[in-house]
Formats: sequence, structure tokens, C-alpha cells
Amino acid sequence: MTDVPLYHVDGELVPAAEATVSVRDRGFLYGDAAFETIRVYGSTPFEWDAHVDRLRATCDLLAIDHRLSDADLRSRVEETLDANDLADAYVRLSVTRGVQPGKLTPDPDVDPTVVVIVSELPRGGREGRPVWDAPATLQTVKTRRVPDRSIPARAKTHNYLNGVLARLELGVSDADEALLLNADGRITEGATSNVFFVADDALRTPNLDSPVLPGITRSVVLDLAREEGIPVEEGSYAPGDLRRADEAFLTNTTWELRPVARVDGIAVGDGPVTALLSRLFDERVEALY
Ligand code: PLP
Repeated sequence: MTDVPLYHVDGELVPAAEATVSVRDRGFLYGDAAFETIRVYGSTPFEWDAHVDRLRATCDLLAIDHRLSDADLRSRVEETLDANDLADAYVRLSVTRGVQPGKLTPDPDVDPTVVVIVSELPRGGREGRPVWDAPATLQTVKTRRVPDRSIPARAKTHNYLNGVLARLELGVSDADEALLLNADGRITEGATSNVFFVADDALRTPNLDSPVLPGITRSVVLDLAREEGIPVEEGSYAPGDLRRADEAFLTNTTWELRPVARVDGIAVGDGPVTALLSRLFDERVEALY
């Protein structure tokens, strides 16, 4: 990485300290924005098509017609990586509704704010160290997940207050990820991760209607498990199902697969299925380059 990171703001590469957006930007005022967190391994964005599809789905849902092609978005990401001399990186690509006249009601005519932030993130896996220091400790929190009919879970927006409130509840406990339940007390997901567990010889994860963000790592892990012939169930689960599990892990773009050591103080841990899927995930990454 170069000494002074360069970020991409509205088509220009600028030093990080000068990478600013207007205080009237709706992404700042209302969280009115879509974003993606992307891993880059060996200069190649992992699961680019899935990320760009999810970004488009979020923008469609928010009616942010940014009029940028997928190729344009990709070239902004690649330019930022090149400018910072990065091959293994974390990328955050944000598209906000920009500055508009008037108040809350969105104007269909959008002049988006498009920002690419990058930082160095060496890959884990067989040749590297995982990006997490230790297995996760999960704690069920009182904050419930926002229902799908309030904010659809498939939208990955700048509004992370649900997750922020959930993480605040962890307070001084040793837990580092919050487990959010839905209004019926069923498991949904972590503040920034999807949850998997192994019970009765099957890999289980809350279904998309729970609701959960359709995580891209979740989708890769489900594909890998099905290809390997591991029985898979996407279902509706109680917290006790997770606490009694044989193995549990979390997934997100940054962590990839991260084993769960404890749920609500009860030891769960990793095991053969987590180890196998982690190895298959590494192989999928290595196949990129
Ligand atoms: N669930 C939530 C609420 C998240 O914020 C994230 C990622 O940040 C995930 C799940 C995992 O998604 P992905 O694997 O696409 O990173």
C-alpha cells in the first residue's frame, strides 16, 4: 500500500484526508445509500458478479437510479487498487442518492455520490493467517432484527443502526458478535454476519425469510456444501438449536468462515464440517488466481 491511501470519490482519486462528501449528502443525512464490502485476492475481486448484482438489487429497491454500468463500477474499484498498489484488499463501494433539493422525499433524478475505499487485507487460508484473531463469541441480544416489511433484509444500505444497537448491548461481556432474533424469537443473523451450525449431521442456516441479508459468503458456503454432498437445511431455528449444535461458524466477506467458540456462554466450537468447508473455501479463493 502507498504511504498515503488514495480513495475514489465521484470519479477522482484523492488522498484519504481529502476524500469527503457533502454534509447535505443523503447517505450522511438519512443513510440513504447502498454499499458492498468486497474482498480482493491477487488483484481479483472475489464474487464480483454477486456483489454487483446485490448492489443493483439494493439500488433498485431504494430507487437510486445511478446510471453507472457494472464495468464502470469495476474500473473505479480497479483504479483505486492500482493507485494504492494493492493485490489483497478490503474494498468498500458505496453509492448514495447524493445531494437533492427538498427534504425526505427522494427525487427520481439522482446525481449519485460514488465512493471506493480500500485497505490492505492479506488473505487467510492455507498460505496466510485468518483475518480474525480468535473464534467468535456469540451473545443473543434483546434488540430484535428489523422486520423485512420495515426494511427489506436483501438491501445492504448505509443504515446499520440495528447492528450498532445490537453490538452496544454486548457492552463489557466478552462476546464479539451479537445474535439477533426476529419478532417470534427465531434466529436471524449476527450484526455483520450470517450464522451456520451443524446438528443431526446436517449443515443448517436460517432461511432468507428469517429474515437475513443474503450474504455472498453464505451463498458460496451453501454451494460448496451441496457440491460436497453435505446435507443442508435452510430453516427456522430457536436459539437453543444453536446452543446445542455440534459446530457453529459465522460468515462474512471479511471473515470468510469464522468458527464460533461459545453461544450465550455455552461452548460450541468448530469440528470436521467447519474445517472441511474452510478448506474448500480456501480452494475456491485460490482458483481465482
Ligand atoms: N449479515 C449482515 C447483517 C451483514 O452486514 C453482513 C456483511 O456485512 C453479512 C450478513 C454477511 O454478508 P457477506 O457474506 O455478503 O459479507
